[in-house]
Amino acid sequence: MLNADLHCHSTVSDGTLSPEALAERAKANGVELWALTDHDEIGGQQRALEAARAVGMKYLTGTEISVTFANQTVHIVGLGFDHHNTALVEGLRRTRGGRGERAQEMSEGLAKVGIQGAYEGALKYVGNPELISRTHFARFLVEAGVCKDTPEVFRKYLTEGKPGFVPHRWARLQDAVKWINDAGGVAVIAHPARYGFTPNEEYALFTEFKAHGGRGVEVVTGSHSTQEAARYAETALEFGLAASRGSDFHSPDESHTDLGALPWLPGQLTPVWELLADRIQ
Ligand code: AMP
Ligand code: MN
Ligand code: MN
Ligand code: MN
Repeated sequence: MLNADLHCHSTVSDGTLSPEALAERAKANGVELWALTDHDEIGGQQRALEAARAVGMKYLTGTEISVTFANQTVHIVGLGFDHHNTALVEGLRRTRGGRGERAQEMSEGLAKVGIQGAYEGALKYVGNPELISRTHFARFLVEAGVCKDTPEVFRKYLTEGKPGFVPHRWARLQDAVKWINDAGGVAVIAHPARYGFTPNEEYALFTEFKAHGGRGVEVVTGSHSTQEAARYAETALEFGLAASRGSDFHSPDESHTDLGALPWLPGQLTPVWELLADRIQ
């Protein structure tokens, strides 16, 4: 078995460690094949690749694209693409585009319930000005003493129907898959158990994803229980999808699953890195 960790975040999106610090932590934890998958952003790929090389770890390029499907947000991880591909670079730039305005509106929503200065507060945690996210607001609200931890902030303020939630239209599923495929990579449905889909909606997601050329699904991730991993192992077989494994590590203080510290993929599945043998650097 290969210790592959193909999902994590750096300061280039909403993680708290640099690509270099992540590479060192992954290596120290025994990761043999690594991918940095910042949200809607590949600005950290060159650094991550060089850092992986420096510590002697194999690398696949990565990103996690925000997609709107059936009026909900779905995350599509892309792996093993050419990170200089123009359509991919441009598509991600457009996907990031509305975040600044959305953040201002989130701040206005929070001000209405008495939380002042959240935009400025969140900005202090932002490493990449094009990538202000809900996570940065959550860190500020913990710092300000409004909540005890980030899950509580999401529960009370940043999810559908709560004062700091602003609906947003992200990329289309078919576009995200096409950008990844046309750049030579493999598209993977991230943490499928984390969406609030009905069985019909979930079936539609997998069916359309596959029809658009998607080839993988995360089976083992930091946010799946053992039962959820077993369930999506079956889904992978049913839909003929390869399986991915990734911690979704964001921060030593916030993430309960560390880099590389995951159960193995169930044996009967095709690991996604087998589809990407010639893309491993
Ligand atoms: P955004 O792309 O700005 O909507 O932010 C999404 C990010 O928020 C995710 O990638 C997670 O890092 C974080 N997140 C979402 N839901 C939760 C939650 N319930 N608890 C903690 N973090 C969350
Ligand atoms: Mn995140
Ligand atoms: Mn995600
Ligand atoms: Mn993620």
